[in-house]
Amino acid sequence: MNIHEYQGKEVLRQYGVSVPQGKVAFTVEEAVEAARSLGTQVAVVKAQIHAGGRGKAGGVKVAKNLDEVRSYAQDILGKVLVTHQTGPEGKQVKRLLIEQGVDIKKEYYIGLVVDRGTGCVVLMGSEEGGTEIEEVAAHSPEKIFKEVIDPAIGLQGFQARRLAFNINIPKELVGKATKFMTALYTAFVDKDCSIAEINPLIVTGDGNIMALDAKLNFDSNALFRHPDIVALRDLEEEDTKEIEASKYDLSYIALDGNIGCMVNGAGLAMATMDIIKHYGGEPANFLDVGGGATEEKVTEAFKIILSDEKVKGIFVNIFGGIMRCDVIANGVVGAAKQVGLDRPLVVRLEGTNVDIGKKILNESGLNIIAADSMADGAQKIVAQVK
Ligand code: ADP
Ligand code: MG
Repeated sequence: MNIHEYQGKEVLRQYGVSVPQGKVAFTVEEAVEAARSLGTQVAVVKAQIHAGGRGKAGGVKVAKNLDEVRSYAQDILGKVLVTHQTGPEGKQVKRLLIEQGVDIKKEYYIGLVVDRGTGCVVLMGSEEGGTEIEEVAAHSPEKIFKEVIDPAIGLQGFQARRLAFNINIPKELVGKATKFMTALYTAFVDKDCSIAEINPLIVTGDGNIMALDAKLNFDSNALFRHPDIVALRDLEEEDTKEIEASKYDLSYIALDGNIGCMVNGAGLAMATMDIIKHYGGEPANFLDVGGGATEEKVTEAFKIILSDEKVKGIFVNIFGGIMRCDVIANGVVGAAKQVGLDRPLVVRLEGTNVDIGKKILNESGLNIIAADSMADGAQKIVAQVK
């Protein structure tokens, strides 16, 4: 789960991570009021969306007085920002962070991620702050330094110091940088983060270390023990279909293609997406209805696929082991009756109760294209949407 920058900074502040003073604003008036109450010479108006790259897209503006705060806030609120992380459709700005303008001497990068390779949390740093870490990794990988953290003992002082030296934090500030990294690591572990990215971490003109940006992601499987984090969820930033799917505990991810997929089992779902691509099509989603799905769950899953306007055809690919084919068939028929089936539907059923499942579909009166195998089904649905 993702949260906004201003929320991330609030979480980090609780752990003693140094961040600028700032306030969230939902309207232009609130923005001006927030800047006034900060009482600083310079205020920064920052678009709050669940995506980075806002600066380059015009979503971060430095205002030298309240009039400028007003005009930047008018400009940015309601605007659709297109950054390299939003996709071409962009994201509409509904909140602003009004923040104290900070005197930046130099920008650095600091990040914590869960690294699959080592099975540990890894602290990463670079003196190439401000730019995306992917860019640095592509063009000057030698400028990224890593410290693998032993989960039993946590981030050690010498590791934080070594990283600070490696990324050329001024010597007299290495102590402050170490404190910063330790606090960041504590927040990361305490709140079950999957990513904590500070880009940029800055050294200020008056010799302080500060997080000027904050991106926190949380492990959804651990959210049950963090009601304070769940409360920060902004549903408007999430795909409506994914929200709907999460209500029914379906594993659903929206994608860009036009072939809706309903599959049981994550492995088969991945293979189905692959075979659709193999035959020249593009999947519109990943959907695993799971092993023990009820008819109601299947119905909801099918409705979610149908609610996607990009979907031009649907491929149901079921290999019934634990999942029974008749349950799937009843779910498909139920959903089609409720919302109407106005697009081609290819069904491949195999496994437990396959005969009953096929009978239900045949007698439903729905226009269903039957497939004998996975490859046959993929070819048929690709042909249908072309
Ligand atoms: P994004 O990563 O989405 O572009 P950032 O929060 O990193 O957004 O802001 C982009 C740039 O704007 C920063 O690298 C920094 O140079 C500048 N900036 C951001 N916040 C402040 C601030 N409070 N004071 C001064 N400059 C800032
Ligand atoms: Mg940034």
